[in-house]
Amino acid sequence: MNTRITPGSARRVRTSANVAFTVSGEASEDERLAQRGIVRLRAENPGPLTLSGTNTWIVGGDPAWVIDPGPLLDDHLEDVLGEIGRRGGLGGIALTHDHDDHRESVPVLRQRFPAPLAAGRGEVEMLLADGAFFGPLQALRTPGHAPDHFAFLMGDACFTGDAVLGEGSVFISPDPGALRGYLDALSRLRELGTAVLCPGHGPPIWDPRARLSEYIEHRLDRERLLLDALARGVRSTTDMLDAAWSDVPEVLRPAASVTLAAHLDKLAEEGRLPDGVERPLQ
Ligand SMILES: [Zn+2]
Repeated sequence: MNTRITPGSARRVRTSANVAFTVSGEASEDERLAQRGIVRLRAENPGPLTLSGTNTWIVGGDPAWVIDPGPLLDDHLEDVLGEIGRRGGLGGIALTHDHDDHRESVPVLRQRFPAPLAAGRGEVEMLLADGAFFGPLQALRTPGHAPDHFAFLMGDACFTGDAVLGEGSVFISPDPGALRGYLDALSRLRELGTAVLCPGHGPPIWDPRARLSEYIEHRLDRERLLLDALARGVRSTTDMLDAAWSDVPEVLRPAASVTLAAHLDKLAEEGRLPDGVERPLQ
């Protein structure tokens, strides 16, 4: 077995591409990923929105493909470059979305391994469309967290970026149709019947159906709480957050108010938003 964890650091979760699986009994998480040619490299940028750090996922070999190279941190980049080198070079880089913590190291990575970049927007070699293939990855449009957001399907694994996280929920960016599009995307992911979700932050999810149902329920719960508050005459951002996001810690309140705007947009699009509701400032 070639699993190597650097002493004193849980960050480097490395497994070689072609680990022979010979251990009897329950396979470890790294082994189950390795059986699929997948490795998770976690960047050391923990925070309220990045959880334990941004995940870079590397799949396949001769060449390898990278999903979200991550933030520009020396140690992380070294890990990513080393893994690509061991896997026989780089076929391409796929971005789930263009937030900095996912894309920042793209230029430096491409200096070392020139390879096409695929994303939902920006200066790229391949502009993603729903259902399109990029190497072994099939792009699935998953708006919500960002308008350019895509997930990637490979075999029975799905790389979900920030559409589904390893822990907790995500904030929804209030673009037109964002929340409706997000709920549709979650339902669609659930129907795929994948075995594992590989998120942009946090650990892999081995019960995709249950987690996706939780995510959908969570959004609908928030909507119910918000509708109750509106029915009681609540109109201000502060009071709406108190009513429907009371469990959210202070540090995540700005993210909650962004998501509140997306919820209000959905209600407005559906003709269910009463007059005089304060929309959170962006
Ligand atoms: Zn992120």
